[in-house]
Amino acid sequence: MTSETTGETRETLGPNDAKWLGEYSRVHMNVFGTPLRVMDHGEGARIWDVDGNAYLDFLAGIAVNSLGYAHPKWVAAVSEQAAKVAHTSNYFASEPQIELAARLVRLAGAPEGSHVYFGNSGAEGNEAALKLAKLHGRTLKGAAPAMGGKPARIIAMTHGFHGRTLGALSATWKPAIRTPFEPLLPCVEFVDPGDTMGLYEKFSQTGPGRYGKGPVAAVIMELIQGEAGVRPMDPGFVRAVRSMCDAHGALLIFDEVQTGIGRTGTWFAFQRKDLSGGVTPDIVTFAKGVAGGFPMGGMIAFGAELSALFSPGTHGSTFAGNPLAASAALATLDVIEHDGLLANVEERGRQLREGITAAGNPLFEYVRGRGLLNAIQLTHPCAHAAMQWALEHGLIVNAVAPDALRLAPPLIVGEREVDEAAAILAGVPADLPDD
Ligand SMILES: *Cc1c(COP(=O)(O)O)cnc(C)c1O
Repeated sequence: MTSETTGETRETLGPNDAKWLGEYSRVHMNVFGTPLRVMDHGEGARIWDVDGNAYLDFLAGIAVNSLGYAHPKWVAAVSEQAAKVAHTSNYFASEPQIELAARLVRLAGAPEGSHVYFGNSGAEGNEAALKLAKLHGRTLKGAAPAMGGKPARIIAMTHGFHGRTLGALSATWKPAIRTPFEPLLPCVEFVDPGDTMGLYEKFSQTGPGRYGKGPVAAVIMELIQGEAGVRPMDPGFVRAVRSMCDAHGALLIFDEVQTGIGRTGTWFAFQRKDLSGGVTPDIVTFAKGVAGGFPMGGMIAFGAELSALFSPGTHGSTFAGNPLAASAALATLDVIEHDGLLANVEERGRQLREGITAAGNPLFEYVRGRGLLNAIQLTHPCAHAAMQWALEHGLIVNAVAPDALRLAPPLIVGEREVDEAAAILAGVPADLPDD
């Protein structure tokens, strides 16, 4: 399908979309609001709805569809695995699962003795990391509950997002999504990204006596806060976090659910010095893009000692490391590696940021991000209207904040497709009504 299919206006829902969306609302719990369209099939960076309208997809299932839609190597791998064995439970193992774990340890540059835990989503990766951090916390001085110690704490960042299960939600900042479920995990505290003094104070509140708190077991953070509107961390701050964690025996957890697996142009965002300052974590969690559209998540624990805190029974999941998910992930990693997609991410990302800046749309203040995880800062809060306008002109983007549009195309996106997206975005009217 060529670019002729996009860029034209279609302001109303087609008849099939309207019919299916009515049916959707009748039977689905309304946690997502009404979906924008009902999708039928895709190819590469393009997807078609049930009325046959084509869209250039610069959201990619929220940074999930790394290889775009229906990539032949991904389809072949999943089909072949489905015909062999789809699921085993963890009473048994499979070759793809073992191969994938070894591969992820290698790509993360994790030291000898590092181990992987697989789950099925980003939240589950973070749940596992938080549980491992809790076990680590019990080993710290002053934390042993049996000796009258105080429970270890977890520090998270304001504006951070780690998922919606109760543990991950405890480390998620946004009041609107956490407050209705409080009380959550009691020992999570927040500091502002960049607030080195605030972090120092949290660490120094540790100690005996009435006002002393338990030690800090871990700091959990994103290197680019995706859901907060694609906000990169200051590498100097990340270095300060690392050194405070080291000084107090706390773990540093990087939540790379959104930034990982090539999204920012390196396998993991912490491998970019302009995000991490060269810092490596103790735990990295991953999900979204790892299996190119198949549900999978997990964590890598760096080093043997930390990995050994999990023993039989401490954690698990029926689907964890499912062979079908593992083969989808292996195919995804294969294509990223063999097709040089990391370089493509870097080049297309630069082209996209330059293209948007060059268009000079007065609605656009500036573009931020790394690789193919970017956001346009708008001059007034009309992101929802801008997203709708783009959709009606054949481009899928995401209103990640009231005043920001997130752009996260598949890693396979081509030069012409980036030009096409930039051209559509150039036409977004600057006088759209605020949301
Ligand atoms: C999406 C996301 C999650 C949650 O992942 P789910 O698969 O939706 O559970 C956690 N952390 C970050 C940084 C994310 O972007």
